[in-house]
Amino acid sequence: MRWRGVLAGVRRGRHHAVMARIELVLGDLTEQHVDVVVNAANSSLLGGGGVDGAIHRKGGPEILAACRELRAGHYGGGLKTGQAVATTAGRLPAEWVVHTVGPVWSATEDRSALLADCHRNSLRVAADLGAGTIAFPAISTGVYRWPATSAARIALAAVADAPAGLTTIRFVLFDRATYDAFRVATGE
Ligand code: ADP
Repeated sequence: MRWRGVLAGVRRGRHHAVMARIELVLGDLTEQHVDVVVNAANSSLLGGGGVDGAIHRKGGPEILAACRELRAGHYGGGLKTGQAVATTAGRLPAEWVVHTVGPVWSATEDRSALLADCHRNSLRVAADLGAGTIAFPAISTGVYRWPATSAARIALAAVADAPAGLTTIRFVLFDRATYDAFRVATGE
């Protein structure tokens, strides 16, 4: 972990006893010691490039085996955009991986609600597992080409009202430009 910005201390909210603390880190998602790491998966759940590839490489074959089981069961048609589902984290330092499918960026269609769904549904799955700490990558900002500034605004707004039980929500940004986009978005 090279950089860390703690953006909001634990605050008391009107609807929840305690609101989660939001952290920004410039680093590698697969090295995070948290209960849940969120994977920017694709709908096949069977692996891909980017952060998905890194998670399967470092987490080992147990994660792919769990994904294949999901495909053989409830998720025969794959995971729809915006939805989230959990598996083991295999050999990663985390306990679970929550897989979610971000929307592909479109200049002509507003898919922001789907990107917000990824974050909210991942938080809900994590809370159902009893997780207290969760780390997200910048979903959709890689192969799916979502501009980082916009993705950062949507992601931060979507996690502002987290389910009870989640105490830390960490965004792990892989490059300086994405980290800066998230940092700017927290100041808006
Ligand atoms: P998507 O298909 O949702 O765009 P990608 O994996 O291509 O997913 O990219 C999402 C973001 O994750 C990008 O900003 C990319 O730079 C970043 N990324 C890639 N590898 C890692 C990693 N090991 N840790 C954290 N972020 C990563």
